[in-house]
Amino acid sequence: MIFEYAPAPESRDVVDIRPSYGLFINGEFVDGSGTPFKTINPASEETLAEVATATEADVDRAVQAARKAFGVWSALPGSERAKYLFRIARIIQERARELAVLESIDNGKPIRESRDVDLPLVAAHFFYYAGWADKLQYAGYGTTPLGVAGQVIPWNFPLLMLAWKIAPALACGNTVVLKPAETTPLTALLFAEICQQADLPPGVVNIVTGAGETGAAVVGHPDVDKVAFTGSTEVGRLIAKSVAGTTKKVTLELGGKAANIVFDDAALDQAVEGIVTGIFFNQGHVCCAGSRLLVQESIAEELMASLKRRLSTLRLGDPLDKNTDIGAINSAAQLAKIRELSDSGEGEGAERWSPACALPDKGFWFPPTVFTGVSQSHRIAREEIFGPVLSVLTFRTPAEAVEKANNTPYGLSAGVWTEKASRMLWMASRLRAGVVWSNTFNKFDPTSPFGGFKESGYGREGGRHGLEAYLKEIS
Ligand code: NDP
Repeated sequence: MIFEYAPAPESRDVVDIRPSYGLFINGEFVDGSGTPFKTINPASEETLAEVATATEADVDRAVQAARKAFGVWSALPGSERAKYLFRIARIIQERARELAVLESIDNGKPIRESRDVDLPLVAAHFFYYAGWADKLQYAGYGTTPLGVAGQVIPWNFPLLMLAWKIAPALACGNTVVLKPAETTPLTALLFAEICQQADLPPGVVNIVTGAGETGAAVVGHPDVDKVAFTGSTEVGRLIAKSVAGTTKKVTLELGGKAANIVFDDAALDQAVEGIVTGIFFNQGHVCCAGSRLLVQESIAEELMASLKRRLSTLRLGDPLDKNTDIGAINSAAQLAKIRELSDSGEGEGAERWSPACALPDKGFWFPPTVFTGVSQSHRIAREEIFGPVLSVLTFRTPAEAVEKANNTPYGLSAGVWTEKASRMLWMASRLRAGVVWSNTFNKFDPTSPFGGFKESGYGREGGRHGLEAYLKEIS
């Protein structure tokens, strides 16, 4: 039986977007010295607000504010810092609907994801690290904070990446200067208001908006003690070079090209759901996305038929509609990159398939796309597409699966689908990936460390391990 589709839009009225936003420095919103830029809704191309650009001088003011606040913040007992973090976590929960709607409007991601995945995880990160603030002596990394952390984050999970960066930094007694991505600054600025609401001492959190140059000014500032970056491997390389020879501690969370490996004994219906979550969640704008499906040859035909049936049921469109599975691509630049790489897939001889799927006239959209007949040398098997595009390869033996999965410059994540626990463990011990999911994919938890091997970066975020990046080594 086919049901009529009835739209179920979330109300936009729960958010109050101001016409313009300043920088958040020393507990106050102030003007930026650079030329302001516009942030748009990628689903409609409508301008949402004008946002200040922080110049080097503005970044310097923010770092000075953070340095001054460090004296106060680091001197507080851990139990006092915890109170602020718990308070922030509770306000995030109270204002979750507003934050989720704003995230979907500025980023393009479906409200179902911002509401049910991003926001609960954001609050959970603050709760989790609030719990560590007065127990650092048991974590095994010492108890001395580093100082001022310069943090630069991407546009794919704007508020969640902010939480991954700010919560552990503050729990350990550091202060921060954070730069959100140019295309998604709004939830970070609402978070600044939450810091005010929580009475966080001025200067503990500073938010500076702007483009790449602002990010470069943050990481390059001589009075920053710690650099934390999530984004492309290309910019990660630039940052690693810029901090080489300094005493700055660095963590880099970069790109990925994860293998999602399905054996012939796997529960196929579950595997199909895991493949869909692996690559079509958040339009594939996920560094650990399962963008390479490795399927055992004997079940490839059956699995592909099932996957195509499932993809034909996905609903693409208005991110604020609660029925939407696939939202808008975050920017025109990202859409151009996805198109270029997908065209190269066809050009190099892979076979392209998408379900019948009408794309809205306005905004940036790309249909869920699957490439079969992909070989390891194709660009779509090697480069991070960062979009809703799956490259399918086959294998015959577990050893071949490991060989192909590891044949990438990246090493962030992997997934294995099999009924046999012994095979799972055999695979996990051989896969060069920071996270290996077993019969699931894209599952996140604040208690679990996350990070990469090889060109996916270094350092871990999340869990007890995530504290290490924000504490002085025990000498
Ligand atoms: P970037 O790596 O350029 O952006 C990440 C953050 O770094 C943004 O805040 C950006 O600012 C900032 N930045 C840019 N240049 C510098 C610099 N020289 N020094 C310090 N900070 C800088 O990613 P893009 O948004 O340009 O995306 C490009 C590609 O990167 C994507 O197509 C995707 O493949 C990959 N990517 C991977 C991510 C991951 O988590 N692995 C996340 C995002 C992108 P601004 O946004 O203002 O340019």
